[in-house]
Amino acid sequence: MKSIQLVPLAGSGGNGFSQEPALNLLEQLAAGLARAFRVPCRVSQRNMELDFALDGRRGQYYSSAILQQLDRAADSDSRVLGVTSCDLYVPVLTFVFGEAQLDGNCAVVSTARLAEPFYGLPRRDDLLRERLLKESVHELGHTFGLRHCGDWRCVMTSSHAVERLDVKTSEFCVRCRKPVFQSGFW
Ligand SMILES: [Zn+2]
Ligand SMILES: [Zn+2]
Repeated sequence: MKSIQLVPLAGSGGNGFSQEPALNLLEQLAAGLARAFRVPCRVSQRNMELDFALDGRRGQYYSSAILQQLDRAADSDSRVLGVTSCDLYVPVLTFVFGEAQLDGNCAVVSTARLAEPFYGLPRRDDLLRERLLKESVHELGHTFGLRHCGDWRCVMTSSHAVERLDVKTSEFCVRCRKPVFQSGFW
């Protein structure tokens, strides 16, 4: 069965506390992704420890290293999306919301900078859910070979700030929709 698998990723963050996204947030994300991609999506029972990807100096986790580990758990029949509340980075950028293998099986997203309290604002669970869905659909879109889109409403438009995430939709534009739904994944 072709499907999407959500893998909870836990990191100690160097402070001894294991941080893992809340289960209800993951379940809601799974429901949203199942609707967006029209395939079953479930939350994996097994989580993954992220400490191997921690850069102690930056206090962040190296997303490309996480993708490599997720790739070992992946099979060609499914997509694997790692979800973490730890902050992610790639060496050339101060942070990333997520990263994906272009035309691959794996993607990873972080909720760290999607939540309002990160910006000193009151908690808003609806906004967090919406941003996480958009970022997840975006990264999974890359696994279908999609690059960034010029249409500001399209989920594949690049967004390195939450303000940009908030203006775009969680949907693919007509042009981006094609490769996803004709990929042979379905
Ligand atoms: Zn992107
Ligand atoms: Zn598009």
